[in-house]
Amino acid sequence: MSIFTKIITGEIPSYKVAEDDNFIAFLDINPNAKGHTLVVPKKEEDKIFDLSKEEYSSLMDFSYRVAKAIEKTIVCKRVGMSVIGLEVPHVHVHLIPLNSMADIQFSQKVKLSNDEFIALAKSISKNFE
Ligand code: AMP
Repeated sequence: MSIFTKIITGEIPSYKVAEDDNFIAFLDINPNAKGHTLVVPKKEEDKIFDLSKEEYSSLMDFSYRVAKAIEKTIVCKRVGMSVIGLEVPHVHVHLIPLNSMADIQFSQKVKLSNDEFIALAKSISKNFE
């Protein structure tokens, strides 16, 4: 069982931003930038291109809605998107508020307190439509 499935089942906590029957979005615990969010299908699949076309399209639709909520919440030049999965073998889309190229490079990290994570997740989720 992946660490993200444990988040989905509630076994471990997360800073949840949005959820429906098939997807969940929560803040990345080691963010590149404030507002860095992961969008995850509840069905545990390792690689994104092993999803069916329909599942892939639904993931992109859900990610679009989450990205819009991030844009409304975080001041940034744009929201970037990346799919890696080398660390956690459960499909996830990284949505990252960008101000510079460094924000998408997974080398520079920002530290947030528990209270900051909670407030941030709440603000983004309020803007989720
Ligand atoms: P990757 O698999 O390379 O796309 O990276 C996995 C991402 O998941 C990293 O950015 C981690 O910081 C993030 N991550 C790992 N565990 C957790 C967790 N429990 N809650 C939130 N984010 C996590």
